[in-house]
Amino acid sequence: MKINLISDTVTLPCEGMKKAMITAELGDDVFKTDPTIVKLEAHAAEMFGMESALFCPSGTMTNQIAINLLTRPMDELICDENSHVFHYENAAYARHSGVGLYALKGKNGKLSPKLIESAIRPLTDWYPRSSLVVIENSCNKAGGTHYSLEEMKALSEYCREKGLAIHLDGARIFNVQVEENFSLSELGPLFDTVSICLSKGLGAPVGSLLLGKSQQIDEARRIRKAMGGGMRQSGILAAAGIFALENNIERLTQDHHHANLLKGALAKLGTVENIRDARTNIVMFDVRPPMNADLFTKSLEECGILCTAFGPNTVRMVTHKDISTEDIHYCVQKLEKIHW
Ligand SMILES: *Cc1c(COP(=O)(O)O)cnc(C)c1O
Repeated sequence: MKINLISDTVTLPCEGMKKAMITAELGDDVFKTDPTIVKLEAHAAEMFGMESALFCPSGTMTNQIAINLLTRPMDELICDENSHVFHYENAAYARHSGVGLYALKGKNGKLSPKLIESAIRPLTDWYPRSSLVVIENSCNKAGGTHYSLEEMKALSEYCREKGLAIHLDGARIFNVQVEENFSLSELGPLFDTVSICLSKGLGAPVGSLLLGKSQQIDEARRIRKAMGGGMRQSGILAAAGIFALENNIERLTQDHHHANLLKGALAKLGTVENIRDARTNIVMFDVRPPMNADLFTKSLEECGILCTAFGPNTVRMVTHKDISTEDIHYCVQKLEKIHW
């Protein structure tokens, strides 16, 4: 038995999703004639109250296209020190867009107008030009913490007032939405661009979408082509995405419930501390010496439970649609029984 809590990217397409894929009507998306892609892009844009959307192979690409779109070389983007764009994209902001990055020490992965203010550079001939703020919701490396709609509104207003563009890395925005119950169509317009992932909690095999104004998404199409991301009969993937948006959002609350059960069991272990205070599908905590993250994950692996050492003393577990309540009960039982 293997219970894979390494990431919500490990989910496999269900039968319904596979059926949608093999029966999808296809065309050539570089010529904008794949009807299933057109349908997915229109559906996502409408959901988020945005004019237009672009299907891309990955969330790294949608983030990178957004950075390219919203900056010029010698600019600087501002983000929290835990950001995906900072840690997990091979410094592609420098490679593709020639910009620098100002990483702020936010609170639980989150920025505030006050913090952003401290990072804005004066206009001189030698400072990089502050031009873009990237926020992540939910915040992965901070342990699944999230911004409320009100907090996002405040950031949006502040950025507009200061003439900064703002991009949302919403790889797991649906996990936030089911907790906070805001309307996605109210969220979209707060940002210049929004990136959403279909291949995380939503369970599609491939794909992310970049959302924005039509004019910007037209330009984003050109950037996607330049990055090698123009695809042909990609409707076969978009069909999985449509299925995911229609069927797999509400059920995310189940993953959050499962994450809470795990946290409850972890809280009883003397070797565990600093369980991050979050309500989404990520469980992150530290272990105390003599325990370390490698030892902890190895002991669980011997029971068939897979999770990630996220630092020397930090462990991450992620719940998702392919983890059942029985799986969670099994994990809770093992956590209680292993001699830590
Ligand atoms: C997964 C993820 C991405 C995109 O990752 P890809 O693997 O390139 O699709 C972007 N941001 C966050 C916060 C993520 O967790």
